[in-house]
Amino acid sequence: MELKSWYAEEKPWIIAGPCSAETEDQMMETVEGLVKQGFSTIRAGVWKPRTRPNSFEGVGEKAFPWIKQAKEVFKVKFAIEVASARHVELALQNDIDILWVGARTTVNPFNVQEIADALKGVKDKPVLVKNPVNPDLNLWIGALERIHQAGIQKIGAIHRGFSTYQESIYRNIPLWQIPLDLKSRYPELLLICDPSHIAGKRDLLFEIAQKAMNLRYDGLIIESHRSPDEAWSDAAQQLTPANLKLMLDKLQIRDLTI
Ligand code: PEP
Ligand code: MN
Repeated sequence: MELKSWYAEEKPWIIAGPCSAETEDQMMETVEGLVKQGFSTIRAGVWKPRTRPNSFEGVGEKAFPWIKQAKEVFKVKFAIEVASARHVELALQNDIDILWVGARTTVNPFNVQEIADALKGVKDKPVLVKNPVNPDLNLWIGALERIHQAGIQKIGAIHRGFSTYQESIYRNIPLWQIPLDLKSRYPELLLICDPSHIAGKRDLLFEIAQKAMNLRYDGLIIESHRSPDEAWSDAAQQLTPANLKLMLDKLQIRDLTI
């Protein structure tokens, strides 16, 4: 696998937005807030992989008209999670700009292959692959290879931390060595950090984001919501667009062009 050449404009590349698309109003107001703070690549979960049943599992296809409207009004790009061939099909039909494979999907080669098959012939769409929930570098690489072998050229990896049963300040322990080993195997692979899902709570976000910048990651994907405490998923780790901007402004960022 090669390639980082596809990502150019923004260094570091910041993808910001709510954990989940909830309502039209929440989407429009959150995206407006993010755009006012200078962000232009937005994330939002449409289908949500929740650990336990009977909780909010995403609004599903209902979110696409809201995304379309936000894209038209605010001229932003949108990234969503896909976990099946059907999700890929709907994302492509609805002109989603960037797709990501979630941590619970990366663990399953059948699932990843199904997604890869649905992407055949697509080529140009950026696809980002989160690390699997378990600390298995080869499983992560295998998922990246499946997507790459489907012909996707704009590929990247997202480090979102790893599950643990041990007591930890983190929601998902970062185990920085694993993404660093990935980076040393594939120096040209785009690597993005997801401080939100590593942290699980907002007061840890800064130190994780700073560490990722010190390690010369290419970007960050961070959750941001118009009113974080009222979010339908991952409330404790989200920031308002204004607070996200304040936090990012404090980061010391190395020159990533050299
Ligand atoms: C998310 O990005 O909201 C999400 C569900 O992440 P992960 O797959 O990292 O748990
Ligand atoms: Mn989330």
